[in-house]
Amino acid sequence: MTAKHDLELVEVTKRYGTTVAVDAIQHRFQPSSYTCLLGPSGCGKSSTLRMIAGHESVTEGAILLSGRDISSLPPANRGTAMMFQNYALFPHLSVRDNVAFSLKMKGVDQKERHAKAGEMLELVDLTALSGRLPDQLSGGQQQRVALARALITRPEVLLLDEPLSALDPFLRIRMRSELKKLQKELGISFIHVTHGQDEALALADEIVVMNNAVIEQAGPARDVFNAPRTRFVAQFMGGHNVIALQSGHFAVRTDAVAITAPNMGKLDAQVMAVEYQGTHVSLMSRIAGDQEVTALVPEAQYFTTPHHPGDQIGLNWDAKDQHKLTA
Ligand code: ADP
Ligand code: MG
Repeated sequence: MTAKHDLELVEVTKRYGTTVAVDAIQHRFQPSSYTCLLGPSGCGKSSTLRMIAGHESVTEGAILLSGRDISSLPPANRGTAMMFQNYALFPHLSVRDNVAFSLKMKGVDQKERHAKAGEMLELVDLTALSGRLPDQLSGGQQQRVALARALITRPEVLLLDEPLSALDPFLRIRMRSELKKLQKELGISFIHVTHGQDEALALADEIVVMNNAVIEQAGPARDVFNAPRTRFVAQFMGGHNVIALQSGHFAVRTDAVAITAPNMGKLDAQVMAVEYQGTHVSLMSRIAGDQEVTALVPEAQYFTTPHHPGDQIGLNWDAKDQHKLTA
């Protein structure tokens, strides 16, 4: 059975000349949920989003929405809408006319356009500013206009390409919670591209981690963070040690590593550096094979038995916290 608003990528490939930007990716997005497409610059996130939106052609494969192949439809007929990174607002149009623009293109009369734009402006809390021009707004307000403009088409899937990157850190965190709230209120799917793992963890029900044109891992945010399957995912998500022993590679969270006396833990190590971080102390150590292992210890616990660079220690963790890496 295909659920409503069920977006699926089937072996989707994008090539620009000889560059393979997206390599046969396969994914079914959870309906009515917040998904973050996460990965480093150049890994193929924007190409994937633009193919879903219809702003870029699919080289091979299919994009299904509610079971129907939308990959050759024009953007306006897909049931998707895109919010661009630079907002792309028309500078000479008022906030209200920017929001109503797509309805004007569809030939909707002015009265209805303004009524619908009014609803959307209320949704994003901009009713009082509907007569202003874009350059009379702050960055956060411009972003809300761009959101309202995308939502007026009543999409089943809203696509957002690095929507918070132009905002200052304070506003970024505020807009982040507004986006999440809006997604829950509307009950539609949001697909949000970001290269920031903290942003993805804060927002996403599901995280899709991309690297080198493929999906490395996808799943609920906590699963991806707690149980990375590859070295890349462990390192990109952060907060993990990647350790290679003769028995294989594994990841263990820095806050799951405890410090013991030498010979009492799973590995012996020498303390290299100690960093006080307020709530925690980060202790960097070196194990055999010149590998670094970090232990993030709650500060009160650390100061009961402090350690110093040069000390010999043991490192221990629960077997359940050790995640085998496949690559
Ligand atoms: P991301 O959004 O993850 O940074 P992109 O999807 O923008 O990645 O790019 C993926 C790869 O495709 C990169 O190597 C990039 O240089 C290349 N690429 C993107 N757009 C074009 C284009 N229009 N023409 C040629 N190459 C492109
Ligand atoms: Mg991009």
